[in-house]
Amino acid sequence: MSRLPPVSFEFFPPRDEEGRSKLINNVARKLGTLNPHFFSVTYGAGGSTRDGTRQTVADLKAAGFEAAPHLSMGNDEIIEVKQTLDDYAAHGINRIVALRGDQPSGMGTNPFANNAQALVELIRQHSGKQFHLEVAAYPETHPDAKSAAADLDYFKRKVDAGADSAITQYFYNVDAFENFLNRCAQANITLPIIPGVMPITNLASLVRFSDKCGADIPRWLRYVLMDLQDDEQGTIDFGVEVMTRVCEQLISLGVPGLHFYTLNRWGATTRICENLN
Ligand code: FAD
Repeated sequence: MSRLPPVSFEFFPPRDEEGRSKLINNVARKLGTLNPHFFSVTYGAGGSTRDGTRQTVADLKAAGFEAAPHLSMGNDEIIEVKQTLDDYAAHGINRIVALRGDQPSGMGTNPFANNAQALVELIRQHSGKQFHLEVAAYPETHPDAKSAAADLDYFKRKVDAGADSAITQYFYNVDAFENFLNRCAQANITLPIIPGVMPITNLASLVRFSDKCGADIPRWLRYVLMDLQDDEQGTIDFGVEVMTRVCEQLISLGVPGLHFYTLNRWGATTRICENLN
């Protein structure tokens, strides 16, 4: 029997038709052989990929896959958000990843005004139980949070507003995830929490992403990756080995699923999943 829990794969919307075609016909079809629960498609800061997200989700659905758009309010009028929800419902979408979203510069004075809790409330009020709602969780604490306790409190509020499950920011310290699960249990947060998994394929981009989103790269990992900097294949092979071990630890904690940040690539993610099977 497979040891792999249900998996989901995250894409970002390609810039053009050609990129979308490659994503669906090459990457999604290859990852599709792993029977994902769903593919999710990110939503650019401030709605910058509004059409691209919708189109990519529609293309995935047309290719026979379950697809979940990410959605944030940004500076959109509430009426526009409601139209988007109606549009997704009409196209058979039944899952949304509801987020505050990354903050584009010049977006307004209060970065917390359109937080994820407000979006979850809006979706539940407008669409009822039409969508399974995923929200984001941060085992290593969100970088804007005043404290770990405040972050957990805001997480609980958006869960109580009507989230069905949560997907975490990626992390390389499984202890941080386990500690987060314990703190959630103490706070009476009982929804399924699915760890986000970021395959390692390139040190420079990993450092760039991690600095931005507050994910810790353990010192030992950073140092080994620095030694492998000029060895692309060596980095990928080492990254697959490390992430296989991380996922094994997560599976032994009984996680309800694994969500892979694929960066629109299939190779490393497939190898990790095959190692786990
Ligand atoms: P929130 O839950 O609103 O929390 C954001 C911060 O505000 C936290 O520090 C929280 O403690 C604090 N906070 C919340 N409510 C309040 C309040 N009322 N008063 C004061 N502080 C408050 N970004 C994108 O732009 N597009 C994507 O598609 C995308 N997909 C993602 C998918 C996953 C699985 C994850 C984990 C992240 C994703 N992100 C995406 C990044 C995410 O949008 C950012 O981390 C963003 O800064 C926070 O979004 P959130 O939904 O977690 O916000």
